Amino acid sequence: MRFQDVEKRFGDHVVLKNLDFTVNKGDRVTLIGPSGSGKTTILRLVMTLEEATGGYIFIDGQPLTHEERGGKRVELKERHKNEIRKRIGMVFQQFNLFPNMTVIENIIEAPVHVLGLSKKAAKEKAMGLLEQVGLADKADAHPLELSGGQQQRVAIARALAMDPEILLLDEVTSALDPEIVGDVLGILRDVAETTDITMLIVTHEMQFARDVSNRVLMFDGGHIVEEASPEVMFTDPKEERTRAFLSAVL
Ligand code: ATP
Repeated sequence: MRFQDVEKRFGDHVVLKNLDFTVNKGDRVTLIGPSGSGKTTILRLVMTLEEATGGYIFIDGQPLTHEERGGKRVELKERHKNEIRKRIGMVFQQFNLFPNMTVIENIIEAPVHVLGLSKKAAKEKAMGLLEQVGLADKADAHPLELSGGQQQRVAIARALAMDPEILLLDEVTSALDPEIVGDVLGILRDVAETTDITMLIVTHEMQFARDVSNRVLMFDGGHIVEEASPEVMFTDPKEERTRAFLSAVL
C-alpha cells in the first residue's frame, strides 16, 4: 500500500497534506499521535469511506480511487473501486454490526453478496471464525444481546470472513470495558501471528502496538513526525514531539 502526496481536506480544513508512505505486504504498522492528527482519516481513505482530495493511494500497485492520466488526476470507476475494496477489511471502534441480523448473518453477508460464496460455504467458514473468536454458541444471537467485547469479536470475525489482504483496526478497544480489552487484543495478536495479513492499526494501547507491529508512525498535524520500530519508538524516540506525546500517554 502506498500513499503518494496525499491530501485530505474537509472544506477549508486540511487534515492531511503531502503525505507519503509505503506499507509493505505483511507489515503491521501502528499509527500513533494526538487526537485530530488524522490517523482515523488515513484508515477511512484506505477503506474508501472517504476519498483523498489530492494525490494517489495504491493497493498492491493498483490505484485505489484516482490515477494520473496525461498529467491529470482522474477518478476511477465505481466498479474498479468495488473490486479493490473487497480486499480490505476494517474493524471500527463502535463495532458497526447490523443490529437486525443475527451474528452469523452479519458474518456471511459480505462473503455471500460481495464475493458470491454459497450460503453453505459462507456459513461453514463463519462457524470456523466464530470458534476462533470463542463465540460459536452465539451464532444465532442478535448483536444487541451480546456484550461490547463479544460484539467486537464478531466484528473481527466478520472482517476476517472476507479473507482480506489488508486489515484496518480503528481503536478497536476504545469502547470496551477495561477487563475485556485483553481478550479482544489477544484474538488480534493470534491473527497477527497466524496470518500474513497486512495490518494498519490505530490504537491507544501502546503495549499492543509494541507486541504486534513492526513499524510505528507518529503523526502530528497531518504529517509523519517520526517513523521507527516499536522498540525504538517506545524507548528512544528521536523527536521531541514524539517524546512529549508518549510521556503523556504511557
Ligand atoms: P482521534 O485519535 O481523536 O480519533 P485522529 O488522529 O484519528 O483523532 P481524525 O479522526 O482522522 O483524527 O480527524 C482528523 C481531523 O479531521 C479532525 O480535526 C476532525 O475533526 C476532522 N474530520 C474528520 N472527519 C471529518 C468529517 N467527516 N468532516 C469534517 N471534519 C472531519
